[in-house]
Amino acid sequence: MNTTPIASILRPEAACACGHKHTTITEAVYTGSGALTNLAPFLKHLGTESVLFVYDTNTYAAAGKSIERVLSSTSAIACKNLVLDGTPHADETTVKIITAEMIKTRATCAAAVGSGTISDLVKVAAFTCRIPYVGIATAASMDGYLSANATIITDGNKVPFSNINPPRAVFADPGILRTAPSRMTLAGLGDALGKITSLADWKLNHLIRGETYCNDTATMLRCEVAALLDNAQRADGDAGDDRFTEQLVRVLMLTGIAMQRMGNSTPASGGEHCISHAMEMKGYAERHEAPSLHGLQVAYGLGVTAAAYAAIFDASRAMSFAADNTAGLLESHRTDWRSLKISMDDIISKKKDLYSTYCSAFASIRTRNDDEDFSFLLHNNKRLGEIIGMYDLPKRASQIPLSERDASFAVTHAIDVRPRFNAVDLIAAAGIIDDYIFL
Ligand SMILES: [Zn+2]
Ligand SMILES: [Zn+2]
Repeated sequence: MNTTPIASILRPEAACACGHKHTTITEAVYTGSGALTNLAPFLKHLGTESVLFVYDTNTYAAAGKSIERVLSSTSAIACKNLVLDGTPHADETTVKIITAEMIKTRATCAAAVGSGTISDLVKVAAFTCRIPYVGIATAASMDGYLSANATIITDGNKVPFSNINPPRAVFADPGILRTAPSRMTLAGLGDALGKITSLADWKLNHLIRGETYCNDTATMLRCEVAALLDNAQRADGDAGDDRFTEQLVRVLMLTGIAMQRMGNSTPASGGEHCISHAMEMKGYAERHEAPSLHGLQVAYGLGVTAAAYAAIFDASRAMSFAADNTAGLLESHRTDWRSLKISMDDIISKKKDLYSTYCSAFASIRTRNDDEDFSFLLHNNKRLGEIIGMYDLPKRASQIPLSERDASFAVTHAIDVRPRFNAVDLIAAAGIIDDYIFL
């Protein structure tokens, strides 16, 4: 199954066939049983004198003792713990608590022990204090461990940080991952499967707008996702299956590597993520919370974008694309975002310009079903649907749960989220977007 060792993927390469020289800040990803035994040697490799481990009460219970055990014989490194109370949020106040502790303990390195929230908090705090950090994964729940992005809530708004340093290494020990609630693993599965349409969207932008595309990076992800589909099907809905979890972790980690290679989230985040972002932005604006876990929201988005691509490539179906179909939609969205007090005017204006420039090229995509990224999606679409059902991932808004209005908002406003195209743009320009709001 593990055709390529992760270490060889991380090794600095000569110039890639795509014309770029890809570099990654992350030097090592340790997975599999005994992954944690590499922690002390890696910290020494970084020249660490003092390390601050950041936990919450749950992650301390899951991993604290194992970490202390593997470091007990390493007297050269001073280890301090910060255990955040309850369920911390990735907010400005908590970042300040962590940075203050980093300064107080004179940490020369930090360790984020957790999943999405702790990872984002430590990523931003370590960047602020200009120290390196490592990640110790406690759940196979999302692909952001190795990303250069984080989102921190400031004054009730989600403020994105981009191009900040990812961890120098990540340790994903199955003994610790097993303690995570299965709902988190299912969210990780949703996020990982989302690559099926994010890769298609990447190719779409490459073909239509000349966006930078790396075939080696896309092929690596496609192979890993194909192995995940095999394992997910074999495990038959058992999120605790060891080989399934191992491959899921590989996809989540290698997605992070793909993002580092490209210097942005393009390979990992397409229309399925835009649907998740749109529902989350509305959720935060109205109720100060996301509707569900990130990967479960992405799974819903994936159902929509995979169905949208199936329609686009259905040769028996007559379809025409017109920028006029989206112009009115985008204008009404300006008002919708304003009423949520979210400023989206710039991006909507850019999107209007993009449609008027490129919409006439949309029809050409329909003939490209032999392209690797599109055919990967089309060949696996049926299997994807079966796996979504097998693991009970949300197919319908009611499973999130999301009201009819919120589901409609999430799908239609996914065209506003980024100044690039995704599957939802195609169905919007074809005037059939309303058929893809799955309630
Ligand atoms: Zn994601
Ligand atoms: Zn490349």
